[in-house]
Amino acid sequence: MGMTLFDSPSFANHEGVHAFFDEKTGLKAVVAVHSTARGPAVGGTRMWNYASSAEALEDVLRLSKGMSYKNAVADLEMGGGKSVIIGDSRTQKTPELFRAFGRAVDTLGGVYYAAEDVGVSVADIAEARKTTSRVLGLKDGPEASGDPSPVTAEGVYRSTLAVARRLFKQDDLTGLTIAMQGVGHVGGYLADKLAAAGAKLVMTDVNTATLAEVAARTGAEIVAPDAIYDVKADIYAPCALGATLNPHTLGRITAKAVVGAANNQLATPEIGRILFERGVLYAPDYVVNGGGIINVAAEMNARQTKGAFDPAWVEKKLSRLIETFDEILERSAVENRPTHEIADAIAEARIAAAADEKLKQAA
Ligand code: NAD
Repeated sequence: MGMTLFDSPSFANHEGVHAFFDEKTGLKAVVAVHSTARGPAVGGTRMWNYASSAEALEDVLRLSKGMSYKNAVADLEMGGGKSVIIGDSRTQKTPELFRAFGRAVDTLGGVYYAAEDVGVSVADIAEARKTTSRVLGLKDGPEASGDPSPVTAEGVYRSTLAVARRLFKQDDLTGLTIAMQGVGHVGGYLADKLAAAGAKLVMTDVNTATLAEVAARTGAEIVAPDAIYDVKADIYAPCALGATLNPHTLGRITAKAVVGAANNQLATPEIGRILFERGVLYAPDYVVNGGGIINVAAEMNARQTKGAFDPAWVEKKLSRLIETFDEILERSAVENRPTHEIADAIAEARIAAAADEKLKQAA
């Protein structure tokens, strides 16, 4: 308690942290800009009913740094940032609130670009677009990148194939059991791809209607939400919440690999090390789920060149990302070092190199 911004362990040398208040709409928002070394900071906007502004600040700082790493590993010319709006997305959303948010983002003059995240929809972003051009993830128009979920799912799918090649010495997923937690936007598309490649799926979701639908079309077995950790699977695919790899689940998960779309899967970095020491291959979350942000980056490109959204560019970046993922697996084996540490090292080196370059150009 009483901790200040600069002392917080999550501060992590953020370039800027901006708090916004709008009296008329009640907007309370924090925009965190971790790094602009590689380009304008890009990261989603989360609307969440935080218990305190300290909790909101902690969340936005952690997420913002994560975006710097994700964007760097995907080799995008974008830095990392994130924003949070404090409030209940079910009861406190108004068009005016998002227009006020747009005005707030606009004052940053293009240092930060917002997009959808938990609690914020395409319609909300469209509202913010009325007061700022510094938002991405639009639904309509030639630049629009639309729903990123299919591209995210494709990246996770190809990563699963890369893992199958290394770990199980096979080019498809025949005979492998995959335990899927969450079959929403990304999980649903992913389930179709995994099933088509021959995997046997065991799945859960708290949304029973969606679960029944996805299970029926993929021939999957259904289990209760908490039972997913006990499934005798070859691969665990977390596609719902963060921090499901934690001291309580570690003893229950017997899969040889973890490959899923969820953000922040490791409750702490130490969990990644424990998985490594147990011989479990952990696919770093922000590497394998980078397809979504690549899709968003294509909208930024279109904006900057006054051109149109280019799916071929998305495909090029996505295949490069999967190559990077495979390099991480290779280095992990050769250097006998956990995959998440190698991913972090790659991201940090790329960000540092860009920062050096910027300094040189300024001199
Ligand atoms: P989503 O909300 O569409 O899907 C999440 C699903 O998980 C829902 O169906 C929900 O009912 C289910 N769920 C929630 N709690 C659960 C629980 N305790 N047990 C089982 N199921 C539970 O979200 P999404 O867009 O598919 O994203 C899934 C994950 O991937 C999130 O962690 C998200 O941050 C991450 N991610 C998504 C994208 C993207 O392109 N959408 C990109 C990168 C990362």
